[in-house]
Amino acid sequence: MREFIDTALVAVAGRDGTPLHLVFPQVFARNAAALRNVLSARGVEHRLCYAHKVNRSQAFVREACRLGIDIDIASAGELDSALGAGFPPTRIEATGPKGERFLRRLLAENVTINVDNRWELDRIIALAGHPAPILLRVSGFPGTAASRFGIPADEIDTLWPLLAANRDRVALRGLSFHLDTGEHRDRLRAVTTCLTLLESAWNAGLSPDVLDIGGGLRQVFTADPGAYDTYTRVLRTALLGDGRPLTWAGATFGYRVGDGSVHGIPVFHKYANTVPATAALAALLEAEIPGNHRSLAAILTDNLLQLWLEPGKAIADHAGITVAAVEFCKDLPDGTVLVNLDLSRDQVTPADQETLVDPLLVPAQPPPEHPAPLGVFLAGRLCLERDMISNRAVRLPFRPRPGDLLVFPNTAGYHSDLSAGTAAMHPLPRRLAVTRDRSTFTAGPDAGHRPAEEGPCAPTTTSPN
Ligand SMILES: *Cc1c(COP(=O)(O)O)cnc(C)c1O
Repeated sequence: MREFIDTALVAVAGRDGTPLHLVFPQVFARNAAALRNVLSARGVEHRLCYAHKVNRSQAFVREACRLGIDIDIASAGELDSALGAGFPPTRIEATGPKGERFLRRLLAENVTINVDNRWELDRIIALAGHPAPILLRVSGFPGTAASRFGIPADEIDTLWPLLAANRDRVALRGLSFHLDTGEHRDRLRAVTTCLTLLESAWNAGLSPDVLDIGGGLRQVFTADPGAYDTYTRVLRTALLGDGRPLTWAGATFGYRVGDGSVHGIPVFHKYANTVPATAALAALLEAEIPGNHRSLAAILTDNLLQLWLEPGKAIADHAGITVAAVEFCKDLPDGTVLVNLDLSRDQVTPADQETLVDPLLVPAQPPPEHPAPLGVFLAGRLCLERDMISNRAVRLPFRPRPGDLLVFPNTAGYHSDLSAGTAAMHPLPRRLAVTRDRSTFTAGPDAGHRPAEEGPCAPTTTSPN
């Protein structure tokens, strides 16, 4: 990534213009292979489903198809994208809330449906003309935060008679969960509950053989998590009014200031995480299941169970950057410097949480002879007060000039796409897929990306990006 930024980025931005999302399918492939190795090394039969919602990239979907991994889709648009990239319906799983029309389509395609609620299950039973493969999504685990998704764990076993009576319409493949927290403890608790429920399904005459642990494996954004501890400490001090404000318009990022101190916890994404997804997955497989005295991996293999997982951000980790150009700088009367970019906040920010990874300043012309570092706020291109790309002061090595580039690292996991819109008729940033052959980088349209190697995949259409 560094090599691309240092040697090829300015030329690509000059040729294709800005703003740009650049995705790196080879990095995506490496991440997926690393997760698969963790499972294979322990003899665990598995199905890895790339969670499409993390990014709109077609290159990623094609790469996933070529790698032979499966895909988790959560909308009709994502279903089209997966089918267009060559995924056969047998390699597609549908999660998330689904309406009647989408359900009918999933049944017609015979995609595995991860059932969110009782209404969905009843509709599937009413509509299916053949045994539709389903998973039941379980939630409401003891000690875990409430979720709007899934069927409460203590109601699941009341469904066995219904499923047993409708075998001609639903084929229960297994149970699933997806936790937002990413905490090992929470995941282990959910696994333990689901294993007990799988056993009760067998006792009721059903034969599910899948445990789906969802996504939630974290990314590693930084080599130096210490910088974040320093930042939050300094931020807390600044919020108390000591020194220059570090935030725009009094933003507190979830902290509460009162009685001369700062309370609460900030709403930042876990940018300081240092545990790679592979290590978190290995730890789960090796964890002893309470009351069973065997590791999860041993329980899975001994009982011929398959482990399914739906990682999104972990497969997209470091597989994308976002590039914007500086339009102009603006000096406010109090000395604050605003750097206006040709990008908007929602195109580089996860679910409106503040991005804490600093952008890199890449000069499009020779850098100043005597660079003077300064703190600035990054402003977006929308005529909305809230379109601030950073609500925190960002340190740059020198005052940027119009045309200089800012590179936002590691944006492929939710930062570039989850909430991106086209307000004020600005088109979405273009997306290019960057590949490297030895030391040569090639950047071409994302939708035109073809994986270098053949795989179990036959793309049928080119869907719009
Ligand atoms: C979003 C989502 C995922 C992917 O989550 P990550 O945290 O990106 O790994 C997987 N499964 C379901 C049901 C989801 O909603």
